[in-house]
Amino acid sequence: MSTDTATIEIPDIGDFTDVDVIEILVKPGDAVAVEDPLITLETDKATFDVPSPQCGSIKQVLVKVGDKVSQGTPIITLNADQKTETPAESATQPKTPEQPAGSKPAATATTDHQPAIKDPGIQPSLQTQVLVLGAGPGGYTAAFRAADLGLKVVLVERYPNLGGVCLNVGCIPSKALLHAAHIINEAAAFAGHGIEFGAPKIDLAKLLAWKNGVTGKLTAGLAQLAKQRKVQVIEGTGHFVSPHHIEVEHEGDQQVIAFEHCIIAAGSQSTRIPGFPNDDPRLMDSTDALALADIPKRLLIVGGGIIGLEIATVYDALGSKITLVELTRELIPGCDRDLVRPLERRIKQRYEQILLNTKVTGIKPHDKGLEVHLEDANGTHEDVFDRVLIAVGRNPNGKQISADNAGLEVDDRGFIHVDRQQRTNVPHIFAIGDIVGQPMLAHKATHEGKVAAEVIAGQKSFFDARTIPSVAYTDPEVAWMGLTESEAKAQGIEYKKGAFPWAASGRSLSLGRDEGMTKLLFDKHSKHIIGAGIVGPNAGELIAETVLALEMGADASDIGLTIHPHPTLSETASLSAEAVAGTITDLYLPKRKTS
Ligand code: FAD
Repeated sequence: MSTDTATIEIPDIGDFTDVDVIEILVKPGDAVAVEDPLITLETDKATFDVPSPQCGSIKQVLVKVGDKVSQGTPIITLNADQKTETPAESATQPKTPEQPAGSKPAATATTDHQPAIKDPGIQPSLQTQVLVLGAGPGGYTAAFRAADLGLKVVLVERYPNLGGVCLNVGCIPSKALLHAAHIINEAAAFAGHGIEFGAPKIDLAKLLAWKNGVTGKLTAGLAQLAKQRKVQVIEGTGHFVSPHHIEVEHEGDQQVIAFEHCIIAAGSQSTRIPGFPNDDPRLMDSTDALALADIPKRLLIVGGGIIGLEIATVYDALGSKITLVELTRELIPGCDRDLVRPLERRIKQRYEQILLNTKVTGIKPHDKGLEVHLEDANGTHEDVFDRVLIAVGRNPNGKQISADNAGLEVDDRGFIHVDRQQRTNVPHIFAIGDIVGQPMLAHKATHEGKVAAEVIAGQKSFFDARTIPSVAYTDPEVAWMGLTESEAKAQGIEYKKGAFPWAASGRSLSLGRDEGMTKLLFDKHSKHIIGAGIVGPNAGELIAETVLALEMGADASDIGLTIHPHPTLSETASLSAEAVAGTITDLYLPKRKTS
């Protein structure tokens, strides 16, 4: 293969001139392919890479960091491979700021909403600047933020209601039912303190109607918010037909929508176990379980993660006998054991069985119930349950959107990988939420949605949260953020721990609970908070303060000297910090000898 020397110049970067070179990404001798980034430029609006229009090897870099460049400035000489397509022939043009989304405000980059790449073979019925695929918390947040930034937005959702898993069959309905469980349990607990309400009478239809009313209010609110922002909502199932077109199918009708930028927010679905009688209505996923068809006498929950434990809490309060089976040796894997222990102690007393290190090897449907085959270190045994919930995780929907047609890379599990600006391997296509990876949580999805929308609108946004908090809304609740103690130990991080037992909290005792605990971890050297864990009623609300402390780089004095209202559970955070600062008076901590 012969080579020619080519000079690569700054392509059309719109209205920008004298743009700063902030990074040189190649050096002489480096081999580059088409689209490989060469240098990074920064304007007052955005940072973007200039990609190579050709493949070959770098001969000379003509600019250095700090130089100012404009369209036409020579930046690189390249020994170009003869076989390489010239920029004019290549379908992939050097990325102008329109293509690496975020490099130039899309609102000013395009005024006629024409897609950047036209495909003569495709006749779109609609054209938009931003198409958001999926209207879960990630998708609707991205759509609304993009619209607020002046972009024309189409939101495609396969179901009539907006809100995705979270609002319709996840976070919100589960929390509504968990509140019902909380009321039942609190009322029962007071029998021992002088107030008896008697056994609850459960009207399942009414309870269900209330839960559906809660989700209905929220999803209707979203439809209204979309209307107010002029976000065009299109009902139907979308899949890519090209890098700039999505076909949407609804009740047998198809339409093609052309877009300049796309945000994939197609979420995830419950993992099904092949070979199980998945069509039997008694074998449930979380959506079925939250539909509350009945209250089974004996319910098996497969999976001791957050979703399994939350649904166990609901059915236990409603009167089912719960058996929980978990493949690993612990409930809520990934969370510190001392935080899970109070929950474990409580549910051990309430549930029929908790089977750890146990595998479900098969389920056979019978008239009398579902016969479940269980295997542990001692061998196998069978048991029969009225219903079984499979809560063993969720799979991303990346394989269901014909990603290949857009040139998108999807991994074997169905995840779409993105950079810190939520950009996929196709520069004008972004992805957010469950489909991009763990943790699969609504608050991660919404933050990512905002980042993607802002980058498309030309802002320099990045997903740079220092932590994403996790909460199990069980009874007691378990919440944690930052590093767990196990992670800190595994990473060899030297830390100081301040813990406050809720048995010494007046507020906790007045709620009739004493099993809670708050612990804060501080880096021994920087003194900054690096992690926190809370178990007890309302732990999910309380963890937010520690997340803010982590984001702000707070130390133990910052938290300990912040006056918390008394008597509240929130005081346990400042008291834990005081334990580290050595100023606590609410506990007696014998002084450690210093040598
Ligand atoms: P999703 O909410 O999954 O939304 C994706 C949307 O895309 C869906 O509406 C779907 O219909 C649509 N879609 C998919 N494919 C297509 C297509 N091809 N065309 C058109 N539309 C499509 N998280 C929390 O943070 N807190 C909680 O308390 C919590 N509780 C949960 C309880 C349960 C029982 C479950 C199952 C989940 C819970 N989650 C919770 C997780 C949370 O629901 C998800 O992390 C969140 O919904 C992810 O948001 P998303 O926007 O990525 O996707």
